[in-house]
Order: sequence, then structure tokens, then C-alpha cells
Amino acid sequence: MPIAVASERLIDRVIEGERISPADALELYRLPLEELGALADHRRKLALTEAYDGSGNDVVTYIIDRNINYTNICNVYCKFCAFYRTEKDSDSYVITHEEIDQKLDELTAAGGIQILMQGGHHPSLTIDWYIDLLSHIREKYPHVNIHGFSPPEFNHFAEVFKMPLEEVIRLFKQAGLGSIPGGGGEILVDSVRNRIAPLKANSDEWLKVMEIAHNMGLNSSATMMFGHVETLEDRIEHLGRLRAQQDETGGFTAFICWTFQPDNTKLRAEPVGSAEYLRMQALSRIFLDNITNVQSSWVTQGPKIGQVALRYGANDFGSVMMEENVVSKAGTSFRLESQEIETLIREAGYTPRRRNNWYQLVD
Ligand code: SF4
Repeated sequence: MPIAVASERLIDRVIEGERISPADALELYRLPLEELGALADHRRKLALTEAYDGSGNDVVTYIIDRNINYTNICNVYCKFCAFYRTEKDSDSYVITHEEIDQKLDELTAAGGIQILMQGGHHPSLTIDWYIDLLSHIREKYPHVNIHGFSPPEFNHFAEVFKMPLEEVIRLFKQAGLGSIPGGGGEILVDSVRNRIAPLKANSDEWLKVMEIAHNMGLNSSATMMFGHVETLEDRIEHLGRLRAQQDETGGFTAFICWTFQPDNTKLRAEPVGSAEYLRMQALSRIFLDNITNVQSSWVTQGPKIGQVALRYGANDFGSVMMEENVVSKAGTSFRLESQEIETLIREAGYTPRRRNNWYQLVD
């Protein structure tokens, strides 16, 4: 890791809350880790000062939700994915309403208010199947926000249903979809996407779904999965595209980044460590000056680094996540109960508060 001193002028600009350029980001990236972390912590404070009646700098939020992967059947074969199966695999599945009900009953009993519902690109499920599923959940569990279907899934739906994208998103919203996760963003640079997921939505298509959704009043999160075949410049280009989209439509509620988890995947890449994770999260907090919330990724980094990440730009501890099927298939399986999350937040010097998808406090 080359260590250099960023110009004093640049550091002053970061402290003053000014927007940084890609060239500035490259310069900041080379700062000693703890200096970059301190700048990100400062920017977190600037972003959150007004939040929660002025207590935003003392608060770290989290949500109780549950991952539901409605099918693992997928014909996209991303090289970094250990989750997908083909229809012929004996452990392939499509979820039933009974299974959904059981998961939602458990979620409700645990005080949960949201599901993160994503799946493989199933080649033949019809629009009626999805609308039935959404309507069923909306009717039976009105207290649960359906945070579902990543942009590449929407692109896939438009193709399979032979419908304009806008129409698919509109019908899903009408049936109960509440917000959209930023999954499938990986790195929004097509030369990278072509190497790791050549059959998946490209960068423009990913952003187009977000643009349509935001303009329809559906908020979403923004993500970055790094530490595979991309360069540092690619990561910064990715952040630049998210920031430009947010300038236009303003619908991203939060940003979350995580490192590629290699086990059981076809992609051979040396895993990047926690220092690199913290460095990129800190840089992202500074670069993404128009996205208020940054989630720490304890699911991939483990609880302790998740906790340290709260001093590297993050103001949110993500979710209790009662069920996780994707990262765990790639060899990483950390689990935390809400009490443990609250203890980790308190130990880091903050007050834990429960939130909903829109970062409103619910406790
Ligand atoms: S990441 Fe998603 S789209 Fe890619 S293979 Fe896995 S399930 Fe399919």
C-alpha cells in the first residue's frame, strides 16, 4: 500500500464538506488508513448532524429484517456467485406461499418489519406469479415492507414478460413492492461486468432501473462489491456513477459496500482484507456526499470489523438479517441477534436505534 501525504488543500476541502473529484479520490486513497478513517468520520458527522432531532452523531441505526430468496434457479451464471442452481439441480427451489408465511410469521414474532426479497433470474416464472406473491404478502403482512428485486432482476422480468420496464416496476409497486435493494451493482463499469457477470444487466441498465424507480417514488439502496478483477479506478468510476444518479433522482437512501467472498465460486481472486474494506468504505463516505447513510457490512466482515467500520464513515449497522443464503454459500456466515447488535453499537460509543427502510426511527 503506497502511503503518501494528500495535499493540505485537499484535506481542508474534505473537512469543509466539499465535493471531491475522481483525481482527489485517488489521492485520498493513499492516505494512511487511520487518517482516511478520521476524514470519513468527520464527513459522517457533517452528514448526520441534523438527523434524529440533532442526535444523529450519537446514533447508529439498524433494522430487523429477513432475507428471502424466492428462487435459486438462475440462468445468468455469475462467476462470483455460489448461490445459483439450474432447474435440473436436486436442491433447486421456488418458494411457496406456505413457506413465505412461515418465514414472515417468524419475522413478525421477532419484531421484524421488512423482508429483503431477491432471487435468481428464473427463466419462466410469469408476471402473475410475482404479482400474486407481492399481493399475498401485502395483504397478510401489511406491517412488513417488501424491499425486493434488484435492478438486474427487473431487466430480466422485462425480457421474460415482454413488457416495458416502467410497466413492470409500476405493476410491482401497485402490488405491494415498497423499495428496491441495490443488489447486482457489483462494479458499474462494463469492462469489469463483462468479466465477472457477462450475462447480467450492464451498468446503464442497472442505473436505468434505479432512475425509473426513484422517479416513481420507490427508494433504493446503492451497493458496491469489490475486491475481484476491478482496479481502484474502476471502483471510483462506480462511485462516480452512483453519485451522478443520486444528483439526478435522489432516491438512494443508503450505500453499502462489501468485499467479494470467493468460496465455492468460479472467480479466482485473492480476497481483500479488512483494512482494504475500511479504506474503501471511508473513501466512499467522502465521495458520496449526496447519500446520507452508509451501512457497515458485518455480514461479510464479521461483527468486530463491522463495529470498527462505524469509525470509518458508517452510521448504520445494517440488519439483524434472520436468514442469509447468498454470502453464506460463499463461505462467510456471521449471525447476530438484535441484542448483540445493540451491544456492539454501544461498545463503539453510540446509541443503538431501530429504524425502518427510510431511516425513520421505529423504537
Ligand atoms: S448473482 Fe444473481 S444473477 Fe448472478 S448467478 Fe447468482 S443468482 Fe444469478
